[in-house]
Amino acid sequence: MRWNLPAAFVASLLLVASAAAAQIPSTDVFVVTADGDSIGEVRRVTDREGYDNQPQFLPDGERLVYSSLRSGGTDIRIHDLRSGEDDVLRETAESEYSPTPIPGREAISLVRDFGNQDQQLWSFPLGAGEPELLLPDVNPVGYHAWVDEERLLLFVLGEPMTLQLAAVGPGRGSVLADSPGRALARIPGSREMSFVDKSTEPWRVMALDPDGGTIRALFETIGGREDYAWAPDGTLWMADDSRLYRRGPKNDSVWSEVADLDGEGIRGITRLTFSPDGKRLAIVGQRPPADLTAAYRDEAAKILGAALTDVEGWEKLEHLATEIGHRLSGSVGLERAIDWAVERMEAEGLAVSKQSVMVPHWVRGAESAAIVAPVERDMPMLGLGNSVGTPPGGITAPVVVVRDFDELEALGRERVEGKIVVYAVDWRGYGYTVRYRSRGASRAAALGAVAALVRSATGLSLQTPHTGALRYDDEQPKIPAAAITVEDADWMRRMAERGLDVTLRLEMEAQMLPDVESFNVIAEIPGAERPEEVVVMGGHYDSWDVGEGVHDDGAACLAAWQALRLIQQLELQPRRTLRVVLWTNEENGLRGARAYRDALSEDELADHVAALEMDGGVERPVGFGFDVHGLDENAAEPDPTYEAALARLEQIGRLLEPIEASEIRRGGGGADIGQLMRGGVPGLGLRTVLEHYFDWHHTAADTLDKADLQDFRRAIALLGVTSYVLADMPERLVPRGWAPEQEQP
Ligand SMILES: [Zn+2]
Repeated sequence: MRWNLPAAFVASLLLVASAAAAQIPSTDVFVVTADGDSIGEVRRVTDREGYDNQPQFLPDGERLVYSSLRSGGTDIRIHDLRSGEDDVLRETAESEYSPTPIPGREAISLVRDFGNQDQQLWSFPLGAGEPELLLPDVNPVGYHAWVDEERLLLFVLGEPMTLQLAAVGPGRGSVLADSPGRALARIPGSREMSFVDKSTEPWRVMALDPDGGTIRALFETIGGREDYAWAPDGTLWMADDSRLYRRGPKNDSVWSEVADLDGEGIRGITRLTFSPDGKRLAIVGQRPPADLTAAYRDEAAKILGAALTDVEGWEKLEHLATEIGHRLSGSVGLERAIDWAVERMEAEGLAVSKQSVMVPHWVRGAESAAIVAPVERDMPMLGLGNSVGTPPGGITAPVVVVRDFDELEALGRERVEGKIVVYAVDWRGYGYTVRYRSRGASRAAALGAVAALVRSATGLSLQTPHTGALRYDDEQPKIPAAAITVEDADWMRRMAERGLDVTLRLEMEAQMLPDVESFNVIAEIPGAERPEEVVVMGGHYDSWDVGEGVHDDGAACLAAWQALRLIQQLELQPRRTLRVVLWTNEENGLRGARAYRDALSEDELADHVAALEMDGGVERPVGFGFDVHGLDENAAEPDPTYEAALARLEQIGRLLEPIEASEIRRGGGGADIGQLMRGGVPGLGLRTVLEHYFDWHHTAADTLDKADLQDFRRAIALLGVTSYVLADMPERLVPRGWAPEQEQP
């Protein structure tokens, strides 16, 4: 979806008004007060779905005429800025365009479109009186400007479009140039007229002497823009999306920004015109589509089609899983994975960079656990990330089994000291159970325990231990800690219930080495209109040092990468920059996400319009959870800005109905984008059916065979469509700098 219309757009609208009407993007007319090199108050003249365009001030500067497409076709309306009254000039069966005050008369000239390329220039009196045909022999007229009370500069439709000069009355116009732009004007303080020469690139503003017929170049337009306005002081004004620029008439002057109207919700500015005294500027802005579902149907279909038949993404995922495998921070695997991604992305033509990050370097070393009494057998285990090792020869000690921290505290130091604490925790979802993995070691150490074993944070176990990071409390001695299987935790609980003592031996070589350098991998498609604004998406590229790190989180990285790749291949360059980040070191440090956040200036952070993260496995996706930091989910009064953003996301979500991934839930995010969200960036966490993720999360079983090609393709589709629309929709998901009102303490 492009918001800056091709120059021929309104010309084609004139040719096929009724057929084109259905596809005309909505525009609104605004008036801003102007004062030399600055602007003031912004006032909305129109506010409705539909085409309201081509404003011109009447000589009093208090009234505007503009063309407005309503049910009966396009008519000319008059808007009184003093009273706010807004009336149609004259109801007609045919359409009228390009209203322009006629010098020295209480009338406007306009293009009257009778269809079939019959478009002639007429005068309509502003008071009583009948319309008159001004140029009976010039047809079809597109645009016009008055040279004086008798003569007109005309944009005449045809192959090619021509610039013509004609006098009121019978007779053809004389052709002066080919391929003019649509904006024709009188240069203030001069007899010259101006137009844009579009016959060569870059386009140039030209000055025409209507008497001698000579044409000279003034200067280049702002890239790709053809609408301009002369202020009475002789400065020329143009717009680029939401930004207004001006420059002096001299050749050596430069465009300088006057204002960015983005904060006023005005984007995609096209036409602009000054009141005769220069104190008001009327502009036309693109109206955001009422319904993103309808507006992005075509692009979404392309992305969905490409994603659902994609083979390249899976081929890359297979490479990562098979030839590189797991990728813990500091490991050769992660280094190789980063090098490979950068090389491959570059080969694909994406803009790639590496962001240096110092990461922890924890190594597991050899490790084992065994039951030594009352029976003897080996016990599957996985040391927890960041754990210290045992002394050489290991630790042999009796166990004390607890179900939760309360039971541990109730036992007290007397019954814990010198023991191995076994947390035989219930599975009440990841969030509940994982606390024992992260805090259990230090809580046990506080009571004198020599080691801690934690039931794996999973609902289903096939004798598979699940690792994950622990966090030591600096106040307590660091004791070794490991995950054991659900089966063994349960067995030890049953033994304890029977009053039977169990003795274990735990041996771990784990150690923390000095930090090493790693990298975030950043790939992007620069935005076509607002490259400084960014939609960022991704997952974490590091994994635990077992399995292949497919569900956690390699497949997400590859899905985001492939979504970007497909959008690039489809040549769908969005307005904003679309960026993929493969964050490093999420699992045992979050240093990659922090480094990404810390490298942003406050301005750059504010220009992150949305952050998307996938870090819940590559099961069948169902949609997103949406959150903004500081939002009170339970507030009695819903936040209107959040609700509006949610409604926009639901419109985007409907584009995912073909893959049943339309759900937008309140609340969501992710560890990596959490860093950005705390800085105010709206966050979207991809959600899946979440049936099996925690069965293989952080285990040696997180391997490619657990992933499904179709689910992976759906993830590419969901990330691709959502990120693309967020990067391309004219308005931001939430206004820049907006934050919900903080919850009252
Ligand atoms: Zn993860």
